[in-house]
Amino acid sequence: NGERSSIGDGDPIVPLPQSNDRRWSDTSAYARKKVLQFWVQLANGNWELGKIMSTSGEESVIAIPEGKVFKVKSETLVPANPDILDGVDDLMQLSYLNEPAVLYNLEYRYNQDMIYTKAGPVLVAVNPFKEIPLYGNRNIEAYRNRSNESPHVYGIADTAIREMIRDEVNQSIIISGESGAGKTETAKIAMQYLAALGGGSGIEYEILKTNPILEAFGNAKTLRNDNSSRFGKLIEIHFSETGKISGAKIQTFLLEKSRVVQCTEGERSYHIFYQLCAGASPALREKLNLTSAKEYKYLKQSNCYSINGVDDAERFHAVQEALDIVHVSKEDQESVFAMLAAVLWLGNVSFTIVDNENHVEPEPDESLLTVAKLIGCNINELMLALSKRNMRVNNDTIVQKLTLSQAIDARDALAKSIYACLFDWLVKQINKSLAVGKRRTGRSISILDIYGFESFNKNSFEQFCINYANERLQQHFNRHLFKLEQEEYIQDGIDWTRVDFEDNQNCLSLFEKKPLGLLSLLDEESTFPNGTDLTLANKLKQHLNANSCFRGDRGKAFTVEHYAGEVTYETTGFLEKNRDLLHSDSIQLLSSCSCHLPQAFASSMLIHSEKPIVGPLHKAGGADSQRLSVATKFKGQLFQLMQRLGNTTPHFIRCIKPNNVQSPGVYEQGLVLQQLRCCGVLEVVRISRSGFPTRMTHQKFARRYGFLLLENIAAKDPLSVSVAILHQFNILPEMYQVGYTKLFFRTGQIGILEDTRNRTL
Ligand code: ADP
Ligand code: MG
Repeated sequence: NGERSSIGDGDPIVPLPQSNDRRWSDTSAYARKKVLQFWVQLANGNWELGKIMSTSGEESVIAIPEGKVFKVKSETLVPANPDILDGVDDLMQLSYLNEPAVLYNLEYRYNQDMIYTKAGPVLVAVNPFKEIPLYGNRNIEAYRNRSNESPHVYGIADTAIREMIRDEVNQSIIISGESGAGKTETAKIAMQYLAALGGGSGIEYEILKTNPILEAFGNAKTLRNDNSSRFGKLIEIHFSETGKISGAKIQTFLLEKSRVVQCTEGERSYHIFYQLCAGASPALREKLNLTSAKEYKYLKQSNCYSINGVDDAERFHAVQEALDIVHVSKEDQESVFAMLAAVLWLGNVSFTIVDNENHVEPEPDESLLTVAKLIGCNINELMLALSKRNMRVNNDTIVQKLTLSQAIDARDALAKSIYACLFDWLVKQINKSLAVGKRRTGRSISILDIYGFESFNKNSFEQFCINYANERLQQHFNRHLFKLEQEEYIQDGIDWTRVDFEDNQNCLSLFEKKPLGLLSLLDEESTFPNGTDLTLANKLKQHLNANSCFRGDRGKAFTVEHYAGEVTYETTGFLEKNRDLLHSDSIQLLSSCSCHLPQAFASSMLIHSEKPIVGPLHKAGGADSQRLSVATKFKGQLFQLMQRLGNTTPHFIRCIKPNNVQSPGVYEQGLVLQQLRCCGVLEVVRISRSGFPTRMTHQKFARRYGFLLLENIAAKDPLSVSVAILHQFNILPEMYQVGYTKLFFRTGQIGILEDTRNRTL
């Protein structure tokens, strides 16, 4: 094992990350409890199980497997759990809840294909990167009738359904994790379960068929994940009073449109482009003047056309079938494909210089002609839109000719807009087909599959938005699990030592504060005609340097301290991406098209422009200056999302990616640990266990168990009855607390009472 050889006998051992681990291990406890095994951290950061050979108090001699022996500072040792606790299915059951114990437990289970583990109320899912036999009808049945209760997405979905019916409260399943951690698969597994239990009307098939469609149009191969979702998704599944699915509604967030025109080596653009090129029938190919993927510049640039084990042509047919099922007519499907072909051909439009000021015009070649034909516009108008811009100066209109780079920008902006509008249009069609109708009861289960926290070597506007969203979701998570929990104890007058937890309100304020927050300043700079990425960076530094979550860096960079770690953002491209301008000429062009999709796109863009929030972008601008900035629109969506989730009972699933090579059987401790920290799993276990998870009101408790009392209770109030029961059953004082309205118990205490009750009844 190459990693292990990094230490030799007696080599100094890297000290533990003290600040963290002291919270997890009670160093005095293991002396008392005669712990035999300890975790030692090796030079490479991994943890290894060791036994103490001898100790001088301050220093200990430790032996690890393979017979290696070395000396370490005793205080760096972390106690390990007895073997009998190996692989427990809820981390809360561990006696020692330190980081190595959690890591080891997950790894132990992972190695046996038990990829799901509970961390108190949270489900942890470690991506197996291979097929495992945990799914399908037989397993669904086992969770439905509760013959299988081991941790599983099915178990979470089952709880959600039951609580929805029992409490008459909408539910949400919130799935998070890094790219490639398994969020989208997990969401599909949850949908499978809901469809199986709530099926019957047939609408469940439609709901399941939305997955291949949205994945074709919204997923792409990236270096991290062959099927990476490039948008966030919330699907709200509605149920009738009898628990049957009555419809669904999908909302999407922040599709990465830049991918349509730009994509790094080894990645791909959206699946649907390759599927169309590979799978279109000869008749369709002719109609769209379609050639092979390799002929299109937008697809050619990243030099990657296929995905291992994926047959794009076959997928294309599956998408067509799925579109049939969600009632997108054949005509509409053909229009959709025509838009895709138009985007591809737009990428091939080239320009030639036409005067001595470097102004350009598009070549009137096959590409240009095909685009015009596919979107149904006049070729001259298309040429105009790609070479000139109408500018309004005061009340006059002047025509500005475009240089090569401006023309390319205009062309790419048009391609991106067509694609993004197409995506939105499809979602709208799907929603029409899934519409709940008037029988709506209002009970629903929402599943959120949204990109996790991202921190790359280079982080741009996309990471900025994504990480902002994650801060919000993290706060939701914190608030739900920690604050509400804690507040309930305090409200009921329970003596519960306050547990500190990281609140990220500071970081959220950094983003949201008005007028001096990241988003406001970004929007403000976006409205300045002379604003550049550099002036933006300077402005942020000028106003935000006092904020402890912010640090200005050299040049155009700044760093934000997120709950999950520091991220340095490069402002390059921020303003342009935030403005997301499509020139009014291009919108005009689309609205003049004879095909109905481009017309619909144009009017959807004009609708946005009726509600200016950013304000005029250019006083003398010909650009469509009245549209929402991307960041503002996203923030609005996010608030709406949080509001919706706020009215639901949440269930959290944290997906973990065990390695960066998308391979089965590889478990990298460091990578897993970092993710566990990022998503608060370790914190959750600690807090849930130190609290009193079982609660019951005095009344309910007295009613439920009062009859077991030997003494006469007729004249007593519920509180006195409750206390009498506790005494009669010898429940230890440290195992419960009596609040103003409720009794609070540690895990496992109610069991004795329930058993007696069941025997007596
Ligand atoms: P994310 O949405 O978090 O980026 P995905 O859900 O797309 O990640 O998962 C990435 C890949 O990991 C999938 O394409 C699949 O190959 C594999 N995977 C994820 N979850 C599972 C699972 N439960 N069983 C088998 N393979 C899985
Ligand atoms: Mg995904």
